[in-house]
Amino acid sequence: MSEKRGIQQEVGAMLRKVSVVTALILAIVMVVSTVCFAEASPYAVSPVTKAAYDKLAADASVKEALDFIKTDDANTLKEQRTICEIPSPPFKEQVRAADYQKRLVAEGLKDVQIDLEGNVFGIIPGTGNGPKLLVTAHLDTVFPEGTDVTVKEKDDRLYAPGISDDTRALAALLSVVRAIKDAGIQPVGDIIVGGNVGEEGLGDLRGVKALFRDHPDIDGYISIEGGSRGRITYLATGSHRYEITYKGPGGHSFGAFGMPSAIHALGRAIAKIADFQVPTDPKTTFTVGTVSGGTSVNSIAAEAVMLVDMRSNDEQEVLNVEAKFLSEVKAAVVKENARWNSHAISVNIKLVGDRPAGSAPDNSAPVQAAYAAMQVIGGTPSLSGPSSTDINLPVFLGIPAIVLGGGGDSGNNHSPDEWYANTDAYLGPQDVLLTILGLTGVKGVTEPLLVKGAVRPILLETNGKLQLSQADPQKAGSLVTVPLRAAVEGLGGQVTWDQASKTAEAKLGGHSLKVNVGSAQVTLDGAAKTAAAAASLLNGKTMVSLDALTLLGIKGEYVDATKLLKLTF
Ligand SMILES: [Zn+2]
Repeated sequence: MSEKRGIQQEVGAMLRKVSVVTALILAIVMVVSTVCFAEASPYAVSPVTKAAYDKLAADASVKEALDFIKTDDANTLKEQRTICEIPSPPFKEQVRAADYQKRLVAEGLKDVQIDLEGNVFGIIPGTGNGPKLLVTAHLDTVFPEGTDVTVKEKDDRLYAPGISDDTRALAALLSVVRAIKDAGIQPVGDIIVGGNVGEEGLGDLRGVKALFRDHPDIDGYISIEGGSRGRITYLATGSHRYEITYKGPGGHSFGAFGMPSAIHALGRAIAKIADFQVPTDPKTTFTVGTVSGGTSVNSIAAEAVMLVDMRSNDEQEVLNVEAKFLSEVKAAVVKENARWNSHAISVNIKLVGDRPAGSAPDNSAPVQAAYAAMQVIGGTPSLSGPSSTDINLPVFLGIPAIVLGGGGDSGNNHSPDEWYANTDAYLGPQDVLLTILGLTGVKGVTEPLLVKGAVRPILLETNGKLQLSQADPQKAGSLVTVPLRAAVEGLGGQVTWDQASKTAEAKLGGHSLKVNVGSAQVTLDGAAKTAAAAASLLNGKTMVSLDALTLLGIKGEYVDATKLLKLTF
């Protein structure tokens, strides 16, 4: 769109100078650009999806449920205001979660519970053996403790931090649940409905990470966000974020001159990072977001810290820019120390954000269902570009997922001036309801569009933290193999790789384990041992059998039912 507008502006400017020939050529350019624009084919809903939605749209109980949402509008808005006034800062969502739990119980959901991470959810059971659909809105806001969250009304708008993001979605979801109950609809598949923690900022998707870790049988996911309806997000921009801390002895700028400086080391790293080249497609970005440190103008800095954000729409590109970044961060230590013939500078590298990227087809069941549902409700649905949301994790895991808007209008999200207007807001929960019903199917009306049996990969957890690498643990018969670097570094150790000999060395707790790709012979602290299987390469990652890792003192527990490999050290 912007490209077309640019051409037209150029046309306007140049016509003022004008020759007839130039004008003709430009006219052709305009026609061509218009034709190109018009050629973008409209999104197509498959005949199967269309048929399901024709049946749903004609069904009396589905109509009743949609009508219910409209009459429930004022009640939903009231609930939105009430929930908004319960503060829910990052990592402090407990009070709002407890409140939401009461609301889910009151709506008649089964097995309502709060998990160890703080997510609250309950179940609308299907008829049995159907697919399992997870639908959540996030409980957390970006606003710190102490923020005034009183809702104020002005000119048909509600103003309060979090009134849209994501309280609108929490309220819309409750209205959807009420509508299903009121109309007596029996879904075929199970619907898990809830509020999740940790969507914003340094929450780092901890809520959905726990949900998908603990429920390996989820077949699809809908995340509701407090935006206007009509857009369907199904792609995920991944990000890795680091806190890098350089430390040194510090000292007087004059008296201690000759000592290396933490700030100078940081500067060396930033100078290199600033020159990184990254692809434009898939869009890949990096930025040093904040820097801090030093003591005073006449001190050699003892500490310097930076927060760095790297993103891409492709997970491999995140890993590529991350690898370059980590290498420069470490090289800066060596260079600053070498400059002053010292060993005094060190660096502490802390991963503070790990949101995996993922690509997904635009014709997955949730995208198709949402598109068809919005056509039934009315309006012009559109597919959004990638962004960073709660669907990052399922998309990365290969589980179909979308983000839908909760309805109404809103603005200034994440700012104290956040506002919400209840304009045609009921259309949001109507979209969500109809999307859900298409995916789970309705007894006596339609079969589920969501395919049961999505197979998520085996997940790796190290000392309680999920490690999302591009090589997942594998299981063949009774043999479990593990990505060596993700496992050992996740437990606080280090792994080095020698390309020439195809040897990896893992160091952990004062021990050294050397493995050779293609061989089951390993070396522990210099002594030869034999592992259950030869080390191998998978997606460029060294994989070793679990028994080889236990030589380092690592305890491993693999549970087939949850498809989770837990390593502790
Ligand atoms: Zn949000």
